[in-house]
Amino acid sequence: MGIPLTSRNFIGGNWKPAQNGQTIAVVAPSDGSSISEIPASDLTDVNEAVVAARNAFEHGEWSRLAPVDRGRRLHALGNEISKHSKQLAHIESLDTGKPFREATNDIKAAARYFEFYAGAADKIHGEVIPYSNGYHVQAVREPLGVTAHIIPWNYPAQMFGRTLAPSLAMGNAVVLKPAEDACLAPLKLTELALKCDLAEAINVVCGTGESAGAALARHPGINFLSFTGSPETGAAVQAAAAANHVGCTLELGGKSPQIIFADADIEAAVPAVINAIVQNAGQTCSAGSRVLIQNSIFQKTVQRLSSEFTRLEAGPVSGDFNLGALISKKQKARVESYLKMANASQIVARGMISSNAPEGGFYLAPVLISPVEPHSPLAQEEIFGPVLCCIPFDDESDAVSIANATPYSLVAGVWTDDGGRQIRMAKALRCGQVYVNCYGAGGGIELPFGGAGKSGHGREKGFEALRGFSQVKTIVHKYG
Ligand code: NAD
Repeated sequence: MGIPLTSRNFIGGNWKPAQNGQTIAVVAPSDGSSISEIPASDLTDVNEAVVAARNAFEHGEWSRLAPVDRGRRLHALGNEISKHSKQLAHIESLDTGKPFREATNDIKAAARYFEFYAGAADKIHGEVIPYSNGYHVQAVREPLGVTAHIIPWNYPAQMFGRTLAPSLAMGNAVVLKPAEDACLAPLKLTELALKCDLAEAINVVCGTGESAGAALARHPGINFLSFTGSPETGAAVQAAAAANHVGCTLELGGKSPQIIFADADIEAAVPAVINAIVQNAGQTCSAGSRVLIQNSIFQKTVQRLSSEFTRLEAGPVSGDFNLGALISKKQKARVESYLKMANASQIVARGMISSNAPEGGFYLAPVLISPVEPHSPLAQEEIFGPVLCCIPFDDESDAVSIANATPYSLVAGVWTDDGGRQIRMAKALRCGQVYVNCYGAGGGIELPFGGAGKSGHGREKGFEALRGFSQVKTIVHKYG
């Protein structure tokens, strides 16, 4: 269904293989089969892409277009994505192992990113600053130049929209390095971008992190780096950016708590808590991977969660299963290594793997672990799989201390009917997004998103992303 057998890089307006001729096999997580190949690019290809982007930015049309026209082209891409949503969702689910239903939502979000930032392109106004008499001072917002984007495998299509659309809207030229484990949807999205006169502004270089990713991060020709992935790689990428004196945003995952108080609407909380860890098989940076439950309702809430967990089923992408396969054998082994840290008595519920699931797929049944000691690795480290840890707490201040006591701080959910507590908790929680009586893993396109500490820094989504992909120039006129 339109999946290229050999995918290529897109550099300087042309599709090309890696100059070293090497490729990487693309493996379908749902059955472990090889479905395609991508270029195993290295510094040579990355260099060519950065030079092409620089040339486009300095001499091309894109950064000089009227913002309204940039917006029109981005909007056209949003429309193309919607028009090809079935095909894109098919590619995305095959490449990542996620259910077709979830991939369909991801494609809708990818289209929405281009719509949102298309609308924003001509609404970035500068300021006139009151200064001394006889001076007229403007602060204008300008593009950065060439922005580099290194993205992970968990939401490739959404990430394409999330990181590229705001940068393009500001008039930058971009170089994207998708993850070697899942980059077919970004390549197909690039193909669609060409139909919308965006060829000049976009370059895509596939390859491993160690080779293509590292070469892009330390390339002296880039002006900014946007990275999403693991904290370890994020630290290396930030060091590379620092060596070139360029800024970066890092989105590095989380250990996000969902906090349920005794007065909460449990019927509303339970499905939201389950969805926040089962979505994308728990491989979501903002997954709600810890559930903090007030002591007085701990037993009954864990029982309720257990009975739901035992019914959860992992299966192939085309069926109506709660979750699909994990991305790779390596990721499955990583999640299993965390499960080995729990005692048998702590594994209070385990879901199922469908009998339709092919043998070679990387399936893992969802697991509920309870009780978990707040300072144990299970409660502190990002597992990135369908594993939910239950932690009891006494009162509001106990909940805040436990919630804030991991090195991560990305998202939190609070479930309570007490209005005062809703506000107190929202203020006390150390994170970039707080949801009260709801939970939006990943959140909406319009909502600024990002973390602190080991979750990274900088904000994506909403208008905040536009600020990140631009810089302010102050212009001072003395007129007498
Ligand atoms: P990773 O950080 O190694 O990979 C993310 C991206 O960075 C990929 O495009 C990769 O090719 C690139 N990369 C890798 N090494 C690089 C380097 N030295 N320089 C520049 N780019 C490099 O993540 P992973 O190995 O795919 O996954 C490991 C763990 O990271 C997961 O188990 C999970 O805990 C976490 N993770 C988090 C997110 C998130 O959304 N925050 C996404 C994926 C993985």
